[in-house]
Amino acid sequence: ANGHTLTSIDASLTTITHSTSPRSVPAPDDPAVLQQKTMTDHMLTCQWTSTHGWQTPTIVPYGPLSIMPSSSVLHYATECFEGMKLYRGYDGKLRLFRPTLNAQRMLLSSTRIALPGFDPSELLKLVVKLCAVDGPKWLPKERPGQFLYVRPTMIGNDPALGVQQPKEALFFVILSMFPCMDVLSHPVTGDPRGIRLLASQEDMVRAWPGGFGYAKVGANYGPSLVAQAEARSRGFDQILWLFGPQCAITEAGASNVFVVWRTREGGLQLVTAPLHGKIILDGVTRRSVLELARERLPNGWEQGGLDPLEVVEREFTMGEVEEAINEGRLLEAFTCGTAFFVAPIECVSWRGKELSIPCETVDGVCSGKYTALIKGWLKGIMYGKERHEWGYVV
Ligand code: PMP
Repeated sequence: ANGHTLTSIDASLTTITHSTSPRSVPAPDDPAVLQQKTMTDHMLTCQWTSTHGWQTPTIVPYGPLSIMPSSSVLHYATECFEGMKLYRGYDGKLRLFRPTLNAQRMLLSSTRIALPGFDPSELLKLVVKLCAVDGPKWLPKERPGQFLYVRPTMIGNDPALGVQQPKEALFFVILSMFPCMDVLSHPVTGDPRGIRLLASQEDMVRAWPGGFGYAKVGANYGPSLVAQAEARSRGFDQILWLFGPQCAITEAGASNVFVVWRTREGGLQLVTAPLHGKIILDGVTRRSVLELARERLPNGWEQGGLDPLEVVEREFTMGEVEEAINEGRLLEAFTCGTAFFVAPIECVSWRGKELSIPCETVDGVCSGKYTALIKGWLKGIMYGKERHEWGYVV
């Protein structure tokens, strides 16, 4: 079957070699799960060469890849990836959440890093095939509300040191058990708490105009880990990435950032940074928050009983946030992304000051009311409590 050569990925040709030594599924609180070291039994791989295009996709037992020390990715960071989750719904079904957006973003990323293009709908079919092989076992029906983390990855593996566009590439997908970090708790008291952010210093930027901050390429992440490690050592959870002399708020860790504030004129707004500067990632969760808020909040969604608010994508700065806090106009702030979902922000440390963000406790979780409402909507769709076209049944 490996003799097949294709110019475009053809998911229908996927071959499957089942593992002869399947592992048992560890408990969700197993240390290996907490360290994100537990992968499922299988992985999917598909090779590409510039002369033959995409080869036959294969699902094989999870195990080491074989690449040459001269491989492009090891020297020039020719790598991009995606992050999504496979959810075990309360109706027993397995679902991905808006996976077509991830497949399209993968294409945006691969072409930004000189890796090959593909038909995103075929790539999605590959992801779905692997999920269908390992999902049923690794997400037992008896444990609804759990998920696997899905990591599609592409690397340039040209075994040649020339600094040039790779002529060979490998696409692979792995599935990982992932600790549920829905609710952070205080390390000493155990009380529910929000995310603590350390604002980035002027001497470190995550992304810049003309760069690649909008793409999900590994080269955006490795260089951010020094700052992240410093944040952790000082008792913070993530870096809040600021940009430019105005200290514009862009993203936090691997999440987008939202605030809910009242303007000086008295209007209520949900605000997040815009995409047009191409320095932040077009998060699937970000997009979903914006779309649900635009659709549901202005009409005073009956479940919420909250005041309508205006949804705004615009540049906003630390100075504005500080003013809003000082004037009592800042109501809520949260980060959102696939990995850590919707996480209320408790404080931001900026220029030596710790700015506290209001955080009440809703249902045992530290959260603002809008944050909790939006989070509940998204969860309902992900776990099949609300039937919605964004839930993609595997
Ligand atoms: N920003 C960055 C830098 C990220 O890595 C991620 C995670 N993919 C996000 C935002 C959130 O994106 P999503 O909601 O698609 O997970």
